[in-house]
Amino acid sequence: MLHHAGAGPRTPARAWRARALVTTGVCTAALAAACGPPTQAAAPPVRGGLSVSYEAPLRGADERAFLRERRLAERVAEDVNGAVRLPRRIEIVGRTCKKDAVPEYDPETGRIALCYGFVGEVRSMFRSDGAADPDERTAGVISETLYHEAAHALIDKLALPFTGREEDVADQFAAYRLLDQGERGRDALLAAADNYDQYAREADPSDGDPSDEHAPDAVRSANYRCYLYGSAPRGKAAKERRTLVDGKRLSKERAELCEEEYANLRRGWARLLQPYAAAR
Ligand SMILES: [Zn+2]
Repeated sequence: MLHHAGAGPRTPARAWRARALVTTGVCTAALAAACGPPTQAAAPPVRGGLSVSYEAPLRGADERAFLRERRLAERVAEDVNGAVRLPRRIEIVGRTCKKDAVPEYDPETGRIALCYGFVGEVRSMFRSDGAADPDERTAGVISETLYHEAAHALIDKLALPFTGREEDVADQFAAYRLLDQGERGRDALLAAADNYDQYAREADPSDGDPSDEHAPDAVRSANYRCYLYGSAPRGKAAKERRTLVDGKRLSKERAELCEEEYANLRRGWARLLQPYAAAR
């Protein structure tokens, strides 16, 4: 796996994961007309939305069983399909990926690869960190990862406009969906933030790439903590707010901006998806 001592140059895996592939043939805003649904009368009807399948694992069956039992991908697919009318089909595929590969959306195939090896790596990280419930925390990271990848798919297939880094926008979509799901969603986003911190601790600072399209892992963690803080109700959950602002991973100064940041990302994603809202 990636972070074993002596296994060569260390790579900040979370910063590499979720990299959308080269956009050859991708629907962009400029190409939206060319990428629209088929217009010929004889064209078969297009059934869109997210679906889930699992390939047989090539090594270690444990992660597939873990994913199936918890219905992590199925829950994300149901949530996104319930909110967004997606004319194209996107398939989440549980599979054994190449060594050290991480989950990613491929715009050419319309598939999100959910790598069994990544699931195992995150599980082992939480276990070795002494987490009280490493499997529950791993489940949170996988849910967050799938929402992030689903965001890439939505941006691609719906040619959604945005400014800034797509990777940041995709992280914000994960927060947008998870923070609407009560304690379970909040726990998932916090697990993802903690996992980014784990990767940040293990990474060699000299390997940092300022031109990487992803923000550094520690920054992605801080952003999620900010959204958690900004979405936490005052009063009853005041303790959670205090815990999040530890002065290291989330500063008091940044925290003052977080309610507005969270409100902005909610408004932004709600407006982006409004034309595609699924009928209820
Ligand atoms: Zn990404």
